[in-house]
Amino acid sequence: MSDSPECSLFEVLPTVYGGRSTFAKQDITKGTLVLKCAAPYSSVILRKFRKEVCGWCFSYSFEHGKRKWDTKFDTGNKNSAPPIVFCTDDCLNTWERNYQDPGTAKALSWLQIHSNFEKTVTQETAGLAKSTNASRFTTFSTNLSLHLQTLSGGDVTKENMEEAWRLAEETFSKPKTILSALRELGRSSVSSDNGVFLTEFEADSARFILDGLFTRTFQAMPSAPSSSETSSSGDRNDSAFNIGSWNDLLELQVLELDNIRSRPSLLASFIRVYGFVKYIISSTSGPSGPPIEASSLGGVLLGLVSNSNVVRDILARDHSNVFGIWEQAEDDVDCEMLGWGMFVFGAYFNHDCEPTIVKKREGRSLMFYTMRDVAAGEELCTSYIDVSAESTLEKRNAELEGEWFFTCQCERCQRERGGVDKAVKKSETSLP
Ligand SMILES: [Zn+2]
Ligand SMILES: [Zn+2]
Repeated sequence: MSDSPECSLFEVLPTVYGGRSTFAKQDITKGTLVLKCAAPYSSVILRKFRKEVCGWCFSYSFEHGKRKWDTKFDTGNKNSAPPIVFCTDDCLNTWERNYQDPGTAKALSWLQIHSNFEKTVTQETAGLAKSTNASRFTTFSTNLSLHLQTLSGGDVTKENMEEAWRLAEETFSKPKTILSALRELGRSSVSSDNGVFLTEFEADSARFILDGLFTRTFQAMPSAPSSSETSSSGDRNDSAFNIGSWNDLLELQVLELDNIRSRPSLLASFIRVYGFVKYIISSTSGPSGPPIEASSLGGVLLGLVSNSNVVRDILARDHSNVFGIWEQAEDDVDCEMLGWGMFVFGAYFNHDCEPTIVKKREGRSLMFYTMRDVAAGEELCTSYIDVSAESTLEKRNAELEGEWFFTCQCERCQRERGGVDKAVKKSETSLP
């Protein structure tokens, strides 16, 4: 990323307190664009907003005086998935260039994946709702659900987390039996919601993972659909600095074990997401479909889910490194979060309760601007949480410790802690 003009203002260096951070290479004046992430590596629009948010630029129809967008990608099949909507024909065309197979026409496309995904979720959700209560709580038949059951109440260690993933790979090794295994997990109480095939969150996470797998696949394909496009368009094959490469993504902080320790049901959720993603990719390109060449999009995707490593690499970085995709009127108190996206380089910025930079979304891009003059060598930080004047030290740190697992040592926090210490000392000395 050091080659790009947008990144020449700062560098990523190790810090004295551990980890890495971003530091200004020169004096930067207030309001300077320091980073442009042209597009997310991976993103998802929440299912409930699917008719109102443009599938390419994330534009929200209500902000344009419309209840929904009317430009649809024609699936050509009435019984298949709900259409993906766009604000303009331009957005539809760009989306098509980026989500359809750059290789042969008969090969796998995003649309087939999407159709299969939505159809399966609908069918399975209906099927599971019909299953009797008697069968719901008595079927801890697989090693995987038994193991998850023992972990759901308490102590998750690195070892038993790894064992769960090993059992998951074993359980999902044959594509044909993945669905029945997922049904079993859905019926058992190891899932976050009893009797649910995939929760809304799990289904959205699975869509997010699929999008990430597509980006990785497209970036690796020689016959890229849009490599001749300008680099500001946010297309998948933009030079890596805009979107980030797979290796850039791997540089992001991993909080998998911390997350699962604080919310043990997440492990079962992650495993269900992996199983479902593997099922969807395998069954879309399955025996009834066209033959899959290893170098085609379908072939590469199949390879990526043959074990859990790649899906896990994304899931392990999802929670703490993604940005909400908010409607543009961010100052509105009723502002809606429409989805979320992993803007890889944006996630390199650390947190500070008095941030130096602020982010602003423009279509598919996320821009980072300085909020005040910054001196050379100063750390560039954003805020992960509400840091307004009303947000107290206790509230901020509870949130940072709960979600990001660190105690903030920024100047504001130290100052406010110092204030507390002094107040305590004062009252002690005033005691008789
Ligand atoms: Zn659009
Ligand atoms: Zn702080």
